Amino acid sequence: MRDILDRARAGFYQVARIFGAKVKSMSVLSILEFPDPRLRTRAEPVRVFDARLKQLVADMFETMYEANGVGLAATQVNVHQRVLVADMSDERNRPLALINAQILEKSGSQVYQEGCLSFPGLYADVTRALEVKVKAQDVDGNEIIVEAEGPLAVCIQHEMDHLEGKVFVDYLSSLKRALLLKRLDKQRKQAASA
Ligand code: ZN
Repeated sequence: MRDILDRARAGFYQVARIFGAKVKSMSVLSILEFPDPRLRTRAEPVRVFDARLKQLVADMFETMYEANGVGLAATQVNVHQRVLVADMSDERNRPLALINAQILEKSGSQVYQEGCLSFPGLYADVTRALEVKVKAQDVDGNEIIVEAEGPLAVCIQHEMDHLEGKVFVDYLSSLKRALLLKRLDKQRKQAASA
């Protein structure tokens, strides 16, 4: 537990370094959980790169680190703008924020066991592209190109799906999805009665 908290702190300091004095404090936002219909909302492009956007990104990092997640889309905190954050590093010190991300190229394929902060405790194998080249903007509106492969490529594709109102269980067969959702339901009931 201490380890997780230390890593969350490390992430916090990295984020604080990106934003400097622009963001005074960060808050943990509440995460929508499946089957909340708001998870099906399509996000709008970000047009204004202001202090509010920086605050949103900082809060999303704080929320992701606090939940010990590796990625978070704005959709999941009920903000329907094309913003995603990720950090796949073990040390939690490589925060990546992508605004208005678009996939330029993808290649190969990989099967990866995915989880999602909107589906606590649920994991499933999903097939996605192995490598992606993404064009996006940073929090100041500068264009950035990110070439990712392996787990980071999975993470970016997973979070970009959220911004389209899509979730990872959508990729599963209906039988597999039904089994998983039943398990999620059971876990929730157990948690509620505990
Ligand atoms: Zn997710």
